[in-house]
Amino acid sequence: MLIEEMTMHEFEEGLKATRTAIIPFGSVEEHGSHLPLSTDTIQAYEVGKKAARCIPLFVAPPIHYGVCRSTSCHPGTISITTSTLKGILKDIVQSLRSQGMENFIVLTGHAGGSHRMALQDASEELIAEYGDIKIAIVTEYELARNEGKSLIETEGDAHAGEIETSRIMHSHPYLVKGEGEKEFPDFPMGILVRNKRKYWQNGVWGDPSKASAEKGRLLEEIVVKKIIELAKKMEVFLE
Ligand SMILES: [Zn+2]
Repeated sequence: MLIEEMTMHEFEEGLKATRTAIIPFGSVEEHGSHLPLSTDTIQAYEVGKKAARCIPLFVAPPIHYGVCRSTSCHPGTISITTSTLKGILKDIVQSLRSQGMENFIVLTGHAGGSHRMALQDASEELIAEYGDIKIAIVTEYELARNEGKSLIETEGDAHAGEIETSRIMHSHPYLVKGEGEKEFPDFPMGILVRNKRKYWQNGVWGDPSKASAEKGRLLEEIVVKKIIELAKKMEVFLE
């Protein structure tokens, strides 16, 4: 059940089938010369949509903006602050809770450290405040990388490489522009740098040439399966 396409009556009816919602988070962030700026959002929303075809599940409209630090100097990246991201998640959960939702799967397509920490901070505050909700935070890239290990050839694939390129080749092939270049950036260890692009010229971390639409299909399937398992678990989970 995609909330953005539902009427209020359909929403009301839907609550009889489930009280679980996925909230997809992404980013507007460079993904090399070949992938769209919305890559992270597309991946998370796609997983939500496909999971909702298999079980009763609400999918909130995706939040396109995220916290992007290491790509902040690359063209096209639009980053928000951790406090803004926290506020967005808290507001959405509070509003959906007041509508009767009980279980929330925060599914993020963007895997940045501060981004994830902000989502976790907000969620910890929410569960401390409301005793009647459950929240899970899942980084869908991590699920793809860990659960799909046997499919992935590139060691250390992290950004706009084999995994993400495969995913977009599968779900949105018309948005893939050429091949992208293999790159493994070399940031100085421990030192924060102002000019991030200097250390990460092409905005890829991994090897996009190893990508294929078929790998993307299989990886997406794995993530969808895991999210369905998680939704079912949350519905019966007692703390
Ligand atoms: Zn990404």
